[in-house]
This record gives sequence, C-alpha cells and structure tokens, in this order.
Amino acid sequence: MRLIRVIEAARVGGMMRMMAVPPVKRFSHLPSMHAPFSLLSRQITMDAKNIASRLNSSGLLRTQGLLGAKWADAYDGKTIEVSNPATGEVIANVPCMGHKETNDAISSAHDAFDSWSKITAAERSKCLRKWYDLLISHKEELGQLITLEQGKPLKEALGEVSYGAGFIEFFAEEAKRVYGDIIPSTLADRRLFVLKQPVGVVGAITPWNFPLAMITRKVGPALACGCTVVVKPSELTPLTALAAAELALRAGIPPGVVNIVMGNAPEIGEALLASPQVRKITFTGSTAVGKKLMAGAAGTVKKVSLELGGNAPCIVFDDADLDVAVKGALAAKFRNSGQTCVCANRIIVQEGIYDKFANAFAKSVQNLQVGNGFSDGVAQGPLINEAAVQKVESFIQDAITKGAKVILGGKRHTLGMTFYEPTVVSDVKSEMLLSREEAFGPVAPLLRFKTEEEAIRIANDTNAGLAAYVFTNSIQRSWRVSEALEYGLVGINEGIISTEVAPFGGVKQSGLGREGSKYGIDEYLELKYVCLGNMNSN
Ligand code: NAP
Repeated sequence: MRLIRVIEAARVGGMMRMMAVPPVKRFSHLPSMHAPFSLLSRQITMDAKNIASRLNSSGLLRTQGLLGAKWADAYDGKTIEVSNPATGEVIANVPCMGHKETNDAISSAHDAFDSWSKITAAERSKCLRKWYDLLISHKEELGQLITLEQGKPLKEALGEVSYGAGFIEFFAEEAKRVYGDIIPSTLADRRLFVLKQPVGVVGAITPWNFPLAMITRKVGPALACGCTVVVKPSELTPLTALAAAELALRAGIPPGVVNIVMGNAPEIGEALLASPQVRKITFTGSTAVGKKLMAGAAGTVKKVSLELGGNAPCIVFDDADLDVAVKGALAAKFRNSGQTCVCANRIIVQEGIYDKFANAFAKSVQNLQVGNGFSDGVAQGPLINEAAVQKVESFIQDAITKGAKVILGGKRHTLGMTFYEPTVVSDVKSEMLLSREEAFGPVAPLLRFKTEEEAIRIANDTNAGLAAYVFTNSIQRSWRVSEALEYGLVGINEGIISTEVAPFGGVKQSGLGREGSKYGIDEYLELKYVCLGNMNSN
C-alpha cells in the first residue's frame, strides 16, 4: 500500500486531495535490486500509519503552501512528491510553485510588514514565545515528521526540534533588546542618534538536512525585529516547514508574516531576487547555489547572508585524550549520516597517535547501528537520495585509485536503498576528492601529519571555512591552533558545538554573516543615523 494512501485515509475530510495533475517524481532510487526493501517498507508503513493519524488529529500534516492567510495549491495544479528516504515510498504530494505564487507570497509579506514592524517588541516577543511553546509541545510529532521525510534517527530528529525551537525562544528574548545608540555630537547644537530598523521582507531559502532548525535560525531573528518572511524549504523536506508554519499561525503570528512556497527552486529564487520588495536574502545550502543567489541579489542590491558548504578538519594531536578524540570525531563525523555542513570531513591525525586512533575509531564506527530512523538503537539512517550515495561511492573510488585504503565499510549497506555502510578510509592525501570537497555522507577519511604547522597548513588548504575541531590536552596549543585556523567555528575537545546562543557561520567560501546569538539579529536590521539639528532654536 502506498504511503500516500495511508496518509490520505487518515485525513478524513480530505485536506489533502488527489491531484489532477500527475506529480513530478523526485525519487530516482528504486527498491527492486535490494531484497530487504519489503521488510523495511512494512515496518515504515506501520510507523507511518500512526504518524499520519497523529499528525492528522493534531492538524500538523499540511500539504499546501502558505500565501498570507491562505493555504494554497500551485496555480497550475502541479505537485511534487515527498518521499521517505528510508523506503522510497511517497509520503505526500505538495504544490510545485513558481514565479506567480512567490510573487503573491511576497505581496502578502509586504502587506503584513507595516503592522508587524510597528507593534511593540514585547508583543512580537510574546508571539514568538507562544510559537516556541507550541513547537515544544508538539516535539514528538515534529520529530517523527523529520525522520519520515529526512531519514535521520528519531533521537536526532527530536534533538533537532529542541535545537530548532531554541532559536525561536532565544530571539523571542532578543526582540526586546534591539537597542539604538546616542552618539556624542561634534557640534553643541546637534544630537546624533542611531536607530535600528527591520530590513523589510526577507526571502529565506533552506536545505533538507535540518528541515526545522535551518528555518527557525532565520525566521526567529527576522520576526523578532519586525521583518516578514517568504520561506522556501527544500522540496525534499517541506512537510516539517509547513507544520512549523501551522504552529506559527496558532501562536497568533498574523497571516502574511510567515509565508511558505516550494517547488521550482530556480523560479522561486528568481522571483525573490527580482522583487524590489524583498530587501534581504538569507540562504543555507550549497556554495554553488549561494554564489548564484549572491550574484542575483546585486540586481536590486539586497542584503545577503549565506551559510554554505564546509570542509571541516578534525585535528587529533599526539597529546589528545584518545577516548575524548574518538568520541568527538565520531559525533562530528556521523551525525545525520555525515550530512551536515559542520561534519568532520577530514580527520587529520598526528603520526604518534595515528594507528591507535585509527583502530579505536574504526571499532567505534563499527558499532554504529544502521537502519530505519524509527527503529530503536539506530544511530545512522539512510542518505537523502540515490545521488548522495553515488557521490560517496565516487569519492571513495577516487581515493582508492589514488592509494587510500578502506579500513571499514566502503560499500552500500545490505539494507539497500539509500543505506551506506559507515566507512573509514586511511592514508588519504590532500589531492583526493575526499579531502577537497564535502563528501556529505558516512565516510571518515584519515590523513596523517607530523607537526603543528603542517596540521594547520593542511586544515586551511581549502576554500571552505565553516567548522574545525581540535583534540589536544595542551591549553597553549588549543589557543594557538584556534587562532591560526581560518574557520568561523572551532570545537576544542568537542565534536558537537552548535547552539542557538553562539554565532554560527563561515569564512572564505563558506558564507557571509552569522546566525544565532546576539549577533544573529543584526543580519535583519538596518542602521539609520538621525541628526537633530538647531537645538538652540525654539
Ligand atoms: P542546495 O542544493 O544548494 O539547496 C539548498 C536550497 O536551495 C534548497 O531549498 C534548494 O531547493 C534551493 N535551490 C537550489 N537551486 C536553487 C536556485 N537556483 N535558486 C534558488 N534556490 C535554489 O543544497 P542542499 O543539497 O539542499 O544542502 C546541502 C548543502 O547545504 C551542503 O553544501 C551543506 O554544507 C550546506 N549547508 C550549510 C549549512 C551552513 O550553515 N553553512 C547548513 C546546512 C547545510 P530544492 O531543494 O527544492 O531544489
């Protein structure tokens, strides 16, 4: 039974309709060559039945875009399929929107801006706080939705809900702290002020690897300071975004403040870039698309923030605590099956500890249980799609051809579909694809170094500069190396460092601007200098 029917059956009254126009197929991988599919399929269908009926009863299974106050289909009726990466089954059809719907979403956001930006910060703060409370009270359903459409283990998905909701809570508080300045005047009869004002309508484009957190990280600060938004989630994971938008409306955030469009990404991007009403583009995704958006924003000179790809080094020094380093590298590498921008992409190990580390690390990796994200004990789910698996395969092939050795894994998992074995590759060199680009999969390349200088040189030998990790027990070395690394974030003796209270963002081609923390709200504000003159006149 196709999962969509499961969900449709659960939606008595039919909020989701059978589509007149055939949906655009997104999933290229087919189960036929992999025997265990039917088993997985039965298991997930049972899960999906429960999830569908729970989501339906809580009204969180939204399958239309949000244009102002209206939940809307694509104007031409076209839809796209949203699939479960663990089974390939279709979860839902959502509208395949383009220029026209995006322009209407922009108009709604523009209309809503006047009143939303003029209410008090305290009122906006209350709405955001209510939204946070609703996200947390629906944590379980949202987590299940994330696992269903993105594949990550349920425990990680629940963690994403807490992390994602944390941005809404944090910026509900920050809303009340957008202070201006008074500048000592150079002339006695003048007073000089700086006001901070919301930039206006924001276009926010987000990826599939964190279907909730990448949205709240942008929408939280934007709404807090009075901006309105048009969000374009990835077509691979739109359901979490739509559920979050439903909760935003329930929290009393007025219609038009949050709009959601999805479908034809280039068309939606063009509409956002072309509109003079959109004053800011905030994007998380690949460096290639980020560059296009940055160039496109020049036409109307929009403010731009970009959170792009990484190529994170994880440097393990001889003086590191081996257990801490193994645990940290494991977390930094294999979270979300290696599909995060801050994933350790190159594990660079000093020669004195290399063999010991490689053995202990491979043992820990071997213990990672692979499977459907809904199954107990699973630490690694599927990759997002077939193309992601092929990318990992080609990187490993390239490394083997150039002399690297696979010491664990190195092939598709017997579960088939989009499952890949957690893999460790040793003797990786700087010229290999595994070192040069993001593998975005469960493969840990080990590189060897002799001196601190060499480690820093290898680590900085990339156009990316997002996250880096250092394992050492020397406080002096940890400072020296942190200062020398050309990265936006550095974890010392820690593999998971993202939090809503600290600034997140990259240098070099990993992006522009920062998200989260007290700095994150500046990306959505303009400074206005006001000069009050002739103070001595009446
Ligand atoms: P992607 O292909 O660049 O897609 C990101 C978003 O951009 C999606 O919503 C996508 O839409 C949309 N998009 C694609 N082409 C577009 C265009 N021409 N105009 C406008 N929008 C367009 O990246 P991804 O594969 O989803 O995500 C993985 C990448 O994101 C990795 O490189 C990862 O490192 C990076 N990432 C960075 C951070 C960070 O904070 N620095 C965080 C997470 C991920 P569709 O999906 O609907 O096609």
